[in-house]
Amino acid sequence: MNDILQAIRRQELQAFYQPQYDTVTGRIVSAEALVRWIRPDGSIIPPFRFIPQAEETGIVTEIDWYITEQVCRMLSRQKQNQETQFPVSVNFSRHHIREENFIQKLSGITDSFQIPHELIEVEITESAMVNEGDKILEWISAVRQAGFSVAIDDFGSGLSSLQFVKDMPADVLKIDKSLLSGNCENEKERIVLESIFYFAKRLHMTTIAEGVETKEQLGFMKTCNCDKIQGYLFAKPMPKTDFLALCRINQPASPETDILQMQTPMGAADLLMSVIFRKYPLVIFSNLTRNTFYMMAYENFTAKACPSTGIFDELIGHGTASMHPEDQQSFAETFARQNLLKAHAAGIPQVRLVTRQLGDDGIYRRVETTDYFVKSPSSDDVLVITLCDNLPETEQ
Ligand code: C2E
Ligand code: MG
Ligand code: MG
Repeated sequence: MNDILQAIRRQELQAFYQPQYDTVTGRIVSAEALVRWIRPDGSIIPPFRFIPQAEETGIVTEIDWYITEQVCRMLSRQKQNQETQFPVSVNFSRHHIREENFIQKLSGITDSFQIPHELIEVEITESAMVNEGDKILEWISAVRQAGFSVAIDDFGSGLSSLQFVKDMPADVLKIDKSLLSGNCENEKERIVLESIFYFAKRLHMTTIAEGVETKEQLGFMKTCNCDKIQGYLFAKPMPKTDFLALCRINQPASPETDILQMQTPMGAADLLMSVIFRKYPLVIFSNLTRNTFYMMAYENFTAKACPSTGIFDELIGHGTASMHPEDQQSFAETFARQNLLKAHAAGIPQVRLVTRQLGDDGIYRRVETTDYFVKSPSSDDVLVITLCDNLPETEQ
């Protein structure tokens, strides 16, 4: 441990940088700083040889602050050279969660180099977080409040719980390389990965796949809508000067691929939904038998009002109230649950009506509402999917 402290003093510890690439454009968009111990003879000691011991003794916090400072120095140099600065993530040990004045210290270092806080990302492993209870929620919120972003590192490497991710107010989810075994050819593994990326997107988190080594893995990550790629396929962690040189060029690192050749069911459904939402900003799923509904609205998946579930009869009540007075009766009658059930029993496949609806801006617009009856895959309940289409102004 003394050796490590001396190494810090003798400036033998160095931040290496591993670029993170935008999955779509293949260009560098950010990087992760990873510590290396460079011995006087030039040999490089990797972190796994000294970080675990440094964790045990708590000295790791010194290492993390030292790397933070080096990162700020590097960013400051980019600025002086009028080069594009990319956000850099720094690994912080679990000890920092209980460190007094953590935020003041982090702000102090970044401010002394005049680095905007949004250029620094605080990375903390999932395993460091799980046993911290509410303390970790407060800590993450405070770090974000100060303008830094927060990444959950090594997600999926061990004790992952969906409950945990749901509650974490983090910005970024880093998917651990252990989840990308082989070329992602195992069907079950693919399904698990697809689902992780899907829920991360729904929770509005940026996703990074760590340890991408093959073109096949990259292809699969593209179909999962993974945001960023970090892995040997594109670049290994490198010294500062090499990183700065690479940032200056920043050529796309991956050839364009046709994602449809490797489409996943989840990815295909996602594409389909984006097309449906282009025409129908509101889609409602209703169970007429049970008098319930579930609503999906464009770009509003997790907004306060949507997805909302509730009682179908009340939904029609609200809908009716928002219609032009002359259209209210026809709307209420057409979409009354009993009338829809009758229509379904009579073998009618769909029910359609055009009405004038009052918008938030106080203007009436023509809306076409179409109900499609569908067979429930799991029961005899009568289901209906409602597509609401705003008709062009010119038709008014
Ligand atoms: P990490 O934060 O999860 O960093 C990612 C590790 O994956 C890095 O290992 C990186 O070199 C490696 N990696 C990236 N792409 C690939 C790939 O395609 N294939 C393979 N096989 N590996 C890849 P590294 O640099 O040896 O760091 C190991 C761990 O040590 C880090 O894992 C992090 O937990 C810790 N660490 C590194 N630097 C620091 C630091 O400054 N502070 C603290 N507290 N921990 C650090
Ligand atoms: Mg990391
Ligand atoms: Mg990691």
